[in-house]
Amino acid sequence: MKKTILIIAVLLVCTSQIFAQNTESPNSVENKKYNYRINDIHCHYVDFIQNTDGIDVLLKQMDHAAVDNIVLFGLSVTKLWTDFDRERPTYYDDNDAPVYYYAFTDVILAEAIKKLPKKQKDRIYPMICGFNPVDKNGLDHIKRMVEMYPDLWVGIGEVFFRHDDLTRMTYGRNPTANCTSMEPIYQYAAEKNLPIWIHSDIGDPVANKPTFLYEMEEAIKNNPKTKIVWCHVGNTRGVDFEGLDETTIRLLNTYPNLYYDISWVVFEQIIAPNGKPDPKWIAIFEQFPTRFMVGTDKIGGFSDYVQTIRKYDVLFDALTPETAKRLASENMFELLPKR
Ligand SMILES: [Zn+2]
Repeated sequence: MKKTILIIAVLLVCTSQIFAQNTESPNSVENKKYNYRINDIHCHYVDFIQNTDGIDVLLKQMDHAAVDNIVLFGLSVTKLWTDFDRERPTYYDDNDAPVYYYAFTDVILAEAIKKLPKKQKDRIYPMICGFNPVDKNGLDHIKRMVEMYPDLWVGIGEVFFRHDDLTRMTYGRNPTANCTSMEPIYQYAAEKNLPIWIHSDIGDPVANKPTFLYEMEEAIKNNPKTKIVWCHVGNTRGVDFEGLDETTIRLLNTYPNLYYDISWVVFEQIIAPNGKPDPKWIAIFEQFPTRFMVGTDKIGGFSDYVQTIRKYDVLFDALTPETAKRLASENMFELLPKR
């Protein structure tokens, strides 16, 4: 009898341990070390040759990084592998070969999301980007995507305009934010309440001054009903002119339809050089707590996803808890349409 009770007791202990292991989330321990949960508002599902680590890898990395939701784009251009280049370029800057617009990028993204269970699907906020912004037919592509995948898209972007070396590598006329072919797209975006994510360098590295500011300012000013997110605060590699902070304050005061994302090089170059947040920028975030968001700007590869998104922890720690929460997660939902 005693033996039977002992066996039952041992069995009960073992089963409860197995049950505990199965119900515990593999990431719950890791996630506890972060004070703020994040929504990543800038990530590309594919790279410059439209390859990706895959949606499952991305979702797993989001779990590891305590990222709940993500704004995900394809990549509007793809790099040409010429017949004379022995090595295959994967990044646009790998060699001098041009890039061309690749509309199928939106389908790659939509199909990857379609296969997911609802719980995971709900964490992804996809945007349409696979059109040529200097082609007046651009809007047709956007409408086609909306028709093919209804109720999927929450915005348009990331649209590439001025983008350092990429500008001269792109076939055709230099895309600029104020080009007339974008007018119907800005209008459509306002009608459908779809915000637009825009990459448009504020200046060029040679002159290191805000040469191209007027292009963006015209687009923002002429489309007051279109919500525009200016990615990377208009900053790019090699551009670091005096007065970006003052320009940012002026634009935010003037245009209520303007928002910023602080992903990519602007964070290391300007906002937190050597990992120390600049008090000037802390003051700007506190002055405009609803207008900034954070993102990874990963392109198809997600192996260093966790460190890329958690680089913002030094910033969150320097802000008031309310502002930190806004930048980390809340602002994204205020900006995006309800679905
Ligand atoms: Zn990007």
